[in-house]
Amino acid sequence: MSMTLVLDEEELWILECRKEAHIDERFHIRDVIKKVKAEYGTSRSTVYEIVGYLEFHGHIKMNKAGNREIDESVAYFVTCLGCGKEIPGSEYVKENGKTVCEDCYLEGHQKIKFADPVAVRSKKLFRKQHGFEGTDGLTELQKEIYGFILEKGGATPEKISKLFKLTLQETRNQLAILRHCELLK
Ligand SMILES: [Zn+2]
Repeated sequence: MSMTLVLDEEELWILECRKEAHIDERFHIRDVIKKVKAEYGTSRSTVYEIVGYLEFHGHIKMNKAGNREIDESVAYFVTCLGCGKEIPGSEYVKENGKTVCEDCYLEGHQKIKFADPVAVRSKKLFRKQHGFEGTDGLTELQKEIYGFILEKGGATPEKISKLFKLTLQETRNQLAILRHCELLK
């Protein structure tokens, strides 16, 4: 099969549940159905449909004993929910239940300095060149965080993390960007 096998989230759940249910490559579909249903609420018929799709592509095969097996030589890909890039199934990272590539994962964990005069200066120049004022040029998330802080007259990173469902580091990075735009102190 030369067609690229790109899995969506639901299809990936099945492979992940299969991995958790068994150490080796063999599995019984009954165990996977139980696990996927318990964890994600996916129906039995959907599991059969997806397993059938993976069989069609050769990633899953039936062995002589009647057990299904994974054929690791048939590669699959997943789409990064951060940047939309297709990445090999062996290289993705799970971040808060989302499938992301390593670059997006690292970006989310990279530390952006809050007090950074050089960043403030370059941001100022960039915004001036683009005629940006106030919240112009910010992402929707940054606008929402900024709006929330304005409304409350201030907020801790912990509170913002919880409210916007971000990791503390992601929150700190977003706050640092708002600081570089001279919107926060
Ligand atoms: Zn990505």
